[in-house]
Amino acid sequence: IQFSDLGLATPLLQALATEGYTTPTPIQAQSIPHLLAGRDLLGIAQTGTGKTAAFALPILHRLAADRRRAAPGTCRALVLAPTRELASQILESFQAYGRHLRLSATVVFGGVDMRRQERAMARGVDILVATPGRLVDHLGRRTIRLDHTEIVVLDEVDRMLDIGFIHAIRRVMSHVPAQRQSLFFSATLPKDIAALAAELLKEPARVTI
Ligand code: AMP
Repeated sequence: IQFSDLGLATPLLQALATEGYTTPTPIQAQSIPHLLAGRDLLGIAQTGTGKTAAFALPILHRLAADRRRAAPGTCRALVLAPTRELASQILESFQAYGRHLRLSATVVFGGVDMRRQERAMARGVDILVATPGRLVDHLGRRTIRLDHTEIVVLDEVDRMLDIGFIHAIRRVMSHVPAQRQSLFFSATLPKDIAALAAELLKEPARVTI
């Protein structure tokens, strides 16, 4: 199976060629068709499996296919990640795969000036990558709104729960419309994580790598 068999838009295939990726990894081959069809996804996968592209490519495809603009202070797609390092890497992946698309992306995490992040968000952004704690701070200040968010990714949920982000995750998700596409990735699926997935996902496709 090739990336071109998955139905991804040509600008994405061009970016993948530039990256030097020839074939999709198992998580990509199994997840991308479900995600392009609009389904929710529960992915059990470690880092290093190619899971970032497994969600970034279909998100870029779907946002580019429906060219509405993000409203001021809002995002169309939201990715939650446990650490600033991972959040920054995810942003870089969106920028690399989306290089031939005119979509905007930004990242928000703790420990840096909030006002700069507010200015970056003020016009609205297509893709927002955030750590949960800092995003909750912005929601409290009403400098970011999630009422127009169409797609949500919770990446490395097990690590986010280890850090103690459960309340922040619930708080964030309470701001996202019920009608959304939700993606959930975790390396493991203990009971508490399975319960959270059941609470947040609607009839998810399940992919285990
Ligand atoms: P991730 O699991 O998302 O952290 O990705 C692990 C590494 O695999 C990253 O360095 C990606 O650039 C790389 N990668 C992702 N998808 C592919 C692919 N289809 N072919 C080759 N490398 C890939």
